Amino acid sequence: MYLFTGLKEQLETYLNPEQVRQIQDAYILARDSHQGQLRSSGDPYITHPVAVARILAEYHFDPQTIMAALLHDVIEDCDVSKEQLAEGFGGQVADLVEGVSKLTQIKFRTRAEAQAENFRKMMMAMVQDIRVILIKLADRLHNMRTLGSLRPDKRRRIANETLEIYAPIALRLGMYGIRSELEDLGFSARYPMRYQVIKDAVKRARGNRKEIIQTITGSIQDRLDAEALHARVLGREKDLFSIYRKMKEKRSSFNEVMDVYAFRVICDSEDTCYRILGFLHSLYIPVPGRFKDYIAIPKANGYQSLHSTLKGPHGLHIEVQIRTESMEQMAENGVAAHWLYKSNNDSNPAELKAREWMKSLMELQSRAGDSMEFIENVKIDLFPDEVFVFTPNGSIIVLPHGATPIDFAYAIHTDVGNSCIACKIDRQIMPLSTPLINGSTVEIITAPGAKPNPSWLSFVITGKARANIRHFLKHLRQDEAIELGSRLLDRALGDRSLDDFDDATKQQLATNIRHKTFDDVLAEIGLGRLASLVIAHRLLPKHQDEENAETEDKPLAIRGTEGLLVSYAKCCHPIPYEPIVAFVSEGRGIVIHRADCKNVAKHQADENKYMPVQWEEDIQGEFAVELKIIVFNERGVLARVTSVIADAEANIVNIDIDQQDGTTNILNFTMTVKNRLHLANIIRKVRRHKFVNKILRNK
Ligand code: MN
Repeated sequence: MYLFTGLKEQLETYLNPEQVRQIQDAYILARDSHQGQLRSSGDPYITHPVAVARILAEYHFDPQTIMAALLHDVIEDCDVSKEQLAEGFGGQVADLVEGVSKLTQIKFRTRAEAQAENFRKMMMAMVQDIRVILIKLADRLHNMRTLGSLRPDKRRRIANETLEIYAPIALRLGMYGIRSELEDLGFSARYPMRYQVIKDAVKRARGNRKEIIQTITGSIQDRLDAEALHARVLGREKDLFSIYRKMKEKRSSFNEVMDVYAFRVICDSEDTCYRILGFLHSLYIPVPGRFKDYIAIPKANGYQSLHSTLKGPHGLHIEVQIRTESMEQMAENGVAAHWLYKSNNDSNPAELKAREWMKSLMELQSRAGDSMEFIENVKIDLFPDEVFVFTPNGSIIVLPHGATPIDFAYAIHTDVGNSCIACKIDRQIMPLSTPLINGSTVEIITAPGAKPNPSWLSFVITGKARANIRHFLKHLRQDEAIELGSRLLDRALGDRSLDDFDDATKQQLATNIRHKTFDDVLAEIGLGRLASLVIAHRLLPKHQDEENAETEDKPLAIRGTEGLLVSYAKCCHPIPYEPIVAFVSEGRGIVIHRADCKNVAKHQADENKYMPVQWEEDIQGEFAVELKIIVFNERGVLARVTSVIADAEANIVNIDIDQQDGTTNILNFTMTVKNRLHLANIIRKVRRHKFVNKILRNK
């Protein structure tokens, strides 16, 4: 219990006894759940969540956040369920803990820098409640503080992740205090040698610098006192990591970086800030082009200050930051400032605080005038309308909210989209229309020769996918229409064939009926806009008309490869060698039904709409059928049925499961088969298993 004492003392400074008691209950559950677990340092595991809670208590976070911090690893590492947490500590705490666990599960895998930016966005987008991020930052901070006991390779990986992901997130939320500690710890773990070199150099330089800093601080302070301006003047030492970064980015030497002296002046009002700036510019000469007014135009995270660089004594460069006390607090604590300085216990819920932060940013911005980029940046992070998903090798793809695997496939490459046939989301086969969610891994399965499906247009979101599918279909449509048109016309010509007519005759005909080319005429026939018999009639010399009249009854042969203009009815899913009939639809080609399909049975006699067709011999291809398989409710039965179907060399296109009663389930399969024999074979193989109750082909 002594572990809790320190935290308790902190909590008692800003929470009431009842709230502290609730938090103590959370502590007890955490302690008992982690019982027997050790950290790699050898300490009992519970020391970690307590330390995380203490970091957050420094910022006076609300009781829910503190409880969630104490419990942040119990879902992941112990057998505690979310429901259990909700019951004991309320839904908010349970949601927070679950949110932290989800973030813990996703791993930053690729090295690329552009990916780090996306990864950060993904983390922000995954959380509903900004406190999840704050707990995660505190968690990471404590892990970094105790990194020493890990294996070196692990230490480097975590340090790298801290520098690339977590420190920038802290910066985005305006929490400079946490950010600079994360950077310092990350830098020393990632580059221990460089860290040590810079640290020693800073130490050596410090002696000389001390005197200079005191002199300059004194002159500034004197000047301000003389003007009766109240302000604190602080000499600042640069963080080691920021020195390192400057050296690297600006290719400067250590001495060049260190020749710059940094001061901060903190006063009571904005007006005073500008007046102080004026006096400093008269005390030392400003370096041209180095003045920045972040009070009028705050940084995206709400940071405000005046920055200027001055030429000091002996030509030294002096960097000054001038800001008010409240700007100072905002700069140090960012979003957390709203917990720290505005909190009257829990009268102000977390969401409201985060909103207040947003609101204060917006207000700052509207005063500063135009800067859409600022609003965009903050908005993307806090009100995400994008989803971030992984490719199997760990790259992140950014898509608009609601995007599907098809959008994902086209985002990777047009060819991937065009040849996409199925997808796995987090290793599970899922429908191609599934809306993607943040953090999932998406794998696209392609097949050579596969084509985009027009039905995709009903669910894709991205312009790229839409444009590519349209483009593909348009081209396909034209080619196929011509092809189908020439077969229809051939058939209408009876024992004559299209080859019997020369190009001039064909072109003449096209011109006569006001079409540019004969191909256009064929396409129109294929699309059902021109009647093949009418065109045949015009092509054939008059005297042949009558003897050819009879031959038009010869059925058109269907090969199964016609593509979009010959389609197969969804109601009856005809497959090769079953008796079929074709429905001719204006502008859309022909639709093949089974001859016994109840949708066409009554109308088949209507010659204007139906025409006789038959399967060509030796059809190659895949045809969709629907099977309803009623199975007994046993473990793994779905997996067994699918493997039987796969063994029979049928491709499963879609699976729907209807829960029936306790004992049986209905599995609705859409699969592709070669022909009637193949289907009969599959049905026989499936029926053989004793977990199958009934198997029906949908009509
Ligand atoms: Mn943890």
